Amino acid sequence: MIAELDVAVVGGGISGLSAAFALMSQAPELALSLIEGSPRLGGCVRTERSDGFVIEAGPDSFLRTKPDAAALCAELGMKSELIEVLPGAHAAYLVRHGALERLPAGMVLSAPTRLGPLLDTPLLSFPGKLRALGDLVIPAKQSGEDESIESFLTRRFGAEVARTIGAPLLGGIYAGDIGELSLHATFPQLSLFESRSRSVILGMLGAALQRGGEAHPSLISLLKSWVRARSVAAPSPFLSLRDGLESLVDRLVERIGRARIRVDHSLIALERDGARFVLRTSRGTLSARAVVLTLPAPVAAAVVPEGRLSRELAAIRYASTATAAFAFSKSELGRELDGSGFLVPPGEGRILAATWVTSKWPGRAPEGSILVRAYVGPGRDLELPDSDLVELARSELERLSGPFGAPLFSRLYRHRGIRPQPGIGHRERLERLDTELAQLPGLFLAGAGYDGVGIPDCIRQAKSAARAALSFLNRASQVDTKARSTI
Ligand SMILES: Cc1cc2nc3c(=O)[nH]c(=O)nc-3n(C[C@H](O)[C@H](O)[C@H](O)COP(=O)(O)OP(=O)(O)OC[C@H]3O[C@@H](n4cnc5c(N)ncnc54)[C@H](O)[C@@H]3O)c2cc1C
Repeated sequence: MIAELDVAVVGGGISGLSAAFALMSQAPELALSLIEGSPRLGGCVRTERSDGFVIEAGPDSFLRTKPDAAALCAELGMKSELIEVLPGAHAAYLVRHGALERLPAGMVLSAPTRLGPLLDTPLLSFPGKLRALGDLVIPAKQSGEDESIESFLTRRFGAEVARTIGAPLLGGIYAGDIGELSLHATFPQLSLFESRSRSVILGMLGAALQRGGEAHPSLISLLKSWVRARSVAAPSPFLSLRDGLESLVDRLVERIGRARIRVDHSLIALERDGARFVLRTSRGTLSARAVVLTLPAPVAAAVVPEGRLSRELAAIRYASTATAAFAFSKSELGRELDGSGFLVPPGEGRILAATWVTSKWPGRAPEGSILVRAYVGPGRDLELPDSDLVELARSELERLSGPFGAPLFSRLYRHRGIRPQPGIGHRERLERLDTELAQLPGLFLAGAGYDGVGIPDCIRQAKSAARAALSFLNRASQVDTKARSTI
């Protein structure tokens, strides 16, 4: 017998779980199932806990400046489990000619919001620094067209800032190439600062002064705050959870209810049957009035009916990466890990970045041990067998940041084809997707491939898809009742 549902949520990552939770919270009477292809829930979010170590396989934190993740934690009663970045971890390093140099203080999304540290940094040449200051006088771009992150940074701050700082700092977040990533889809705030304030630096300083209570800061007061080295960097914007981010997954699963979740059920095809959807899965067929699809876009492309919707979804590119985690004994450390870790610009090494986990977060390793994570980006290295890839990451860590001694243990987590790479024009693609979805009433999309990759972005999209699905179901029920009453 085919299970007849009101709504099926497909994908058990943070997007699917958040959508199912939002639906259940607002309409507990719904016949709802969450369908997950793999045996485990959480998708990219995964925490391994063993012998006092808390090891994140994927994300290690979320932004508090985008409120949806912190708000969800509060709604789930997890406020007291939120943890902040350790005070000493605000500094970060960048590899330059094989050695670690501190990122200049006040470098916000590659914009130098403090003059002193910009002038002092050995990371940029003197002409490179002068060119970065060009942002103060260069006119704003007139057209509102999308462009790559690299093109934007080069226009505003020069090629050296784009290459040396932008590529590892902003490209690293996406494990992508800043020459190909869409500015509007990744860091829209940069383009807003330019269009509203002409200069990105002045725009950021103005926003900081406004947060501090100065409603309309004058140019003189903006420049004074820049020169006087008042940092616009507030306390770290990142939060995490005491027992790791997977505890958020666990709590969501608890609140949704295991009975509503079907793991090991891969969606193979989604078809329309009159007013309902038929979901063909690896374990049988389901039918639902509404579907919230939270799969990686290329997977979604393969399950929806052939046509424009499928082609638009298939055009969203994804990349693969890997995270290697190492535990070391503190006594063997060759240097003080006085910061959150380091970034590796293209050409400087075979890892993208490393996080000194125990310097960044409290409670991640037992006394006397440290935990470090290294990230391997897309490319040939990912084809290496596990043991070789772990050894590559370990040797790169040592080459770039000094000796750690022999690892107490290591872990490797591969993230195959799950890191979205929103290309130039991504926002226009989202508009076209909306047009196509309007042809399939009852189908909703959410997830990292669409409107932001961060955990808070995924939760926001999931909540909005849940709201849209509910109002669709309510409208459809009203039409149903009306039709019945006229018979
Ligand atoms: C290494 C790494 C580090 C990151 N760091 C951060 C960070 O620090 N902060 C931050 O905010 N974000 C970070 N992110 C991004 C963020 O974690 C992800 O964008 C987000 O978790 C994606 O959630 P999702 O539910 O949209 O997708 P996913 O987590 O990919 O979930 C999709 C789910 O769909 C399932 N699925 C696939 N195919 C099928 C099918 N046919 N049928 C049924 N189910 C299927 C998958 O098994 C999976 O469970 C990081 C991501 C990675 C990979």
